[in-house]
Amino acid sequence: MNLETIKALPGRYCNSLHTYSRWLTREVNIGDVPMGGNNPIRIQSMTTTDTMDTAGTVAQTIRMVEAGCDYVRITAPSVKEAQNLAEIKKQLRQKGYSVPLVADIHFTPNAAEVAARIVEKVRINPGNYADKKRFNELVYTEAEYQNELERIFKKFTPLVNICKEYGTAMRIGTNHGSLSDRIMSQYGDTPRGMVESAMEFIRMCESLNYYNLVISMKSSNPQVMVQAYRMLVETMVAEGMNYPLHLGVTEAGDGEDGRIKSAVGIGTLLEDGLGDTVRVSLTEEPEFEAPVAIALVERYSSRAKEERQKAKGTSIGAEDLSPFTFHLSPSLHSPYEYKKRETYEANAFIGGSMVPRVVIDLSAKNLKDPAILADAGYLYSPLLDKYSMADQSVDFVYLADELPSFTFPGNLKKLYNYKTWSFLIDKKNCHPVFGLEEYHASVEKDTALNLVKIKAIDLETQAFKQLVFDETLVFVLETDATHGMADQRECFFYLKKNGIDVPVIVRRSYAFNGARRDERVVESAISNQSSIAKSSISALRSTDSITELQLYAATDFGALLFDGFGDGIWIDAPEIPSKIVTSTAFGILQATRSRISKTEYISCPSCGRTLFDLQITTQMIRSRTSHLKGLKIGIMGCIVNGPGEMADADYGYVGAGPDKITLYRGKEVVKKNVSAALALDELIGIIKNDGNWIEPETILA
Ligand code: SF4
Repeated sequence: MNLETIKALPGRYCNSLHTYSRWLTREVNIGDVPMGGNNPIRIQSMTTTDTMDTAGTVAQTIRMVEAGCDYVRITAPSVKEAQNLAEIKKQLRQKGYSVPLVADIHFTPNAAEVAARIVEKVRINPGNYADKKRFNELVYTEAEYQNELERIFKKFTPLVNICKEYGTAMRIGTNHGSLSDRIMSQYGDTPRGMVESAMEFIRMCESLNYYNLVISMKSSNPQVMVQAYRMLVETMVAEGMNYPLHLGVTEAGDGEDGRIKSAVGIGTLLEDGLGDTVRVSLTEEPEFEAPVAIALVERYSSRAKEERQKAKGTSIGAEDLSPFTFHLSPSLHSPYEYKKRETYEANAFIGGSMVPRVVIDLSAKNLKDPAILADAGYLYSPLLDKYSMADQSVDFVYLADELPSFTFPGNLKKLYNYKTWSFLIDKKNCHPVFGLEEYHASVEKDTALNLVKIKAIDLETQAFKQLVFDETLVFVLETDATHGMADQRECFFYLKKNGIDVPVIVRRSYAFNGARRDERVVESAISNQSSIAKSSISALRSTDSITELQLYAATDFGALLFDGFGDGIWIDAPEIPSKIVTSTAFGILQATRSRISKTEYISCPSCGRTLFDLQITTQMIRSRTSHLKGLKIGIMGCIVNGPGEMADADYGYVGAGPDKITLYRGKEVVKKNVSAALALDELIGIIKNDGNWIEPETILA
């Protein structure tokens, strides 16, 4: 199969795997800010105040609108909070804010029925709308399953009727961590179970002639989330549906980790044209979420335009569901399960079953100073004349044509441009990087590793076809395309289809020019008449280059890694400090769970149910456990949703009441109602008793 044939193949879950093309969904009315259809991708977030604190909730909502939110969600845990939404809405309208409000409902149909008469949209969780989660392993006969559905239909119908009467929209928001016992019994804790959980409720709505729906498939594991959304789209298309998609990764955490984890999930879907609204969920103040969501989304307003120009005025085909009829061969691409592309192990170091390797470019740094290797994760001690390495020490540094004047650590490999490499007297741990033609013309090759740079355009050349795959060869895959992820994915399809098992390092280059670049994004937002309100332009401007690198690299590399593509990653970003480039690379590998180098925190963004200060608590827990590589710790604000939402965490720290923390091992309660002052020590004690504790220490190279 040649590259042109591969380019012509449409995907199963999106309009095109090759050209940026947004999936056209049904337009849904939410107050006076419609979603889906040809509307811009909307931005939203959720308040963290107590819903009974009217003044606080109004003030926070206004800050969120100023930061760029098109919709604001507020929790309504019971009827009294649902009723107070009327006062919150009244005060917002009096202050001139017409932002549509969304009530967040778990477990309480009566609160939903009150809220649906007041706000513009209600969010229900199909896993707990009419079910108490019992975590029981139940077995249902076909008849019992149907009876359950009928019971839920009776409970759910009044809400649908109210929504129809009041013109209220509804989000059917499935969460991976809170599937009903019924769904768990039939499908398990799987993307298919998540899809079916929503489909049951969608079918009920349609049987009542109610279509004002938005759907979400969230998980704290971005890979599960991506698979579930893809499967949802394919399932909806098969049933003739095209409801708008609300994208989000739950419990993403804070800071760099939270941004990267959100971007690998949300960005991967946006790359394939999926998504009508985005909520980035950070354990930070909610007004910090919108600029991140805006930066993720705005990348596509200019891309759509460029792809349209490239297509010379032809329609990009979002109008028709028919492209979904062709399926890529599952051996070429299975979008619903992770399977790493099979490659050989080159020099017992890269490819095969090895973790993805990390390359950074230090060629422009001061190579007279050994301390510069701290940027690559190697700390130099002048006293001992020794380096120490850690879990985030890179595998290769690219030095181009620059020669360092100090000795490198033995386990760090140096990459040189071929000509410079050929003149080296001591080539130990040094490997050449070639252009394709240069590789053929070279008189000397390395006996260990030869890296050859390729792009999509090279794949059908004689030079490429004449390559001998001798297990020292590793490709460095580059791209100049605007829709670069898809361009590189095509290359992987090509390699796979043609049985080429050479390991591939994916390389992407990012040019940032500080404020001037940010201005370009702002200009693009304005000229594309995006959803961004004038008031939010300042928020957009505040997205700095470092954040943009984290978001864009996480999107571009994450989307490929989720599909099993890539034996190494190489981020080029000359304007960004190398230390940040290194931590971004390891953050992406951690978020895609392809190389674990640190503790993972699954912390909720907090809301009106939260029982302690999540930001402070998360920092406190992080400060004592951040060396526990590979452990997943859930930090949840409430006992109502927390245990379900923390999904596959190894340990959980969950608010159970004022100054009461309940500690979990997986889904098992280990200690109930511990005072907050003692809870972290108790948690560490449990980890120690389980044999999962290690003392913080540095590993010497
Ligand atoms: S887990 Fe956190 S965000 Fe979710 S409902 Fe509880 S407090 Fe709110």
